[in-house]
Amino acid sequence: MIIHLKSTVDQVLAETLAKDNKAFHIVYNNKQVLITGSGTKEVPENLEIYTEDFWVFPNDMQLSSRRYQNQKREINFGKVTIGGNTNNTILIGGPCSVESEEQIRSASELLVKLGLTTLRGGCYKPRTSPYSFQGLGLEGLKLLAKMRDEYGLNVITEARDATHIDEIIEYTDVIQVGAKAMYDQGILRACSKIKKPVLIKRGFGTTLQEFVQAAEFVLSGGNENVVLCERGIRTFETGTRFTLDLCGVAWLQEHTNLPIILDPSHAMGYAYGVPGLSKACVAMGIDGLLIESHPNPKIAKSDASQQLNFEEFENLLNQLRPVAQSVGYNMI
Ligand code: PEP
Ligand code: MN
Repeated sequence: MIIHLKSTVDQVLAETLAKDNKAFHIVYNNKQVLITGSGTKEVPENLEIYTEDFWVFPNDMQLSSRRYQNQKREINFGKVTIGGNTNNTILIGGPCSVESEEQIRSASELLVKLGLTTLRGGCYKPRTSPYSFQGLGLEGLKLLAKMRDEYGLNVITEARDATHIDEIIEYTDVIQVGAKAMYDQGILRACSKIKKPVLIKRGFGTTLQEFVQAAEFVLSGGNENVVLCERGIRTFETGTRFTLDLCGVAWLQEHTNLPIILDPSHAMGYAYGVPGLSKACVAMGIDGLLIESHPNPKIAKSDASQQLNFEEFENLLNQLRPVAQSVGYNMI
């Protein structure tokens, strides 16, 4: 249950009431808000005189629910805004992994040339094998920060686990919680205590309800800036790497108030499918697209088969702009 407390209740009293009722307390849209367990069907007696309004939910989709807030959240990605009424579809570029200064600089220059704003590159890679390239770690984060300073780009990188979450929070503008990391409570709880946007990717075996609950961990801790990312789920099909769940995207658009970004690169696993899928994604009227690109995909240290080269990336952007426009969105 979400309870909006009366305006006469100040922060200190709200915190005390939250503690007494084992509820979460956040300040949202200038309101003192308490969130209790999903089983709560009636306003607890000791809160009745302080309650202005309340919402009962059948499950743990509360703050992210359209039933609570029918308006899609507006999120600032550094100097650009997505969600709300912006009708922006942000194209997030960059390689799977930051590999060297030369590589990430060329990726940055491409984005600047194309008028794009947001660079993504992994530094702590959640690899399936311990023998694969694991990422440059802190050295990679410093390279991303350098690119932000030199080119004015927003940077995104992923946290692999909670051991380095403070570093990630310090160095990046948007924190990516990867498909494997989205169950890591250390990461989610740390992300709930900051205000930087958090992009949560859906695990490949994660139901939509579980996906949204990961977002609720961040929202209920007080960080309003959560974006969901569909990146493919595992099905019986092995011809493609994963299966991009566009039905799931429609469900999330209908039931949640969180902006949604799609990642056709990881879903498909092969560069040949990325342009077509990207158009299908953009045609759904989405808040962003995440596409991996590399100056020379053949020698990429991770996800080599799915990364576009720079020419393919540029051509794709040109094809996506009219698709976005046809559904009332702008590619930024
Ligand atoms: C990535 O974004 O490079 C990545 C590892 O993605 P995912 O977490 O979706 O597998
Ligand atoms: Mn990747």
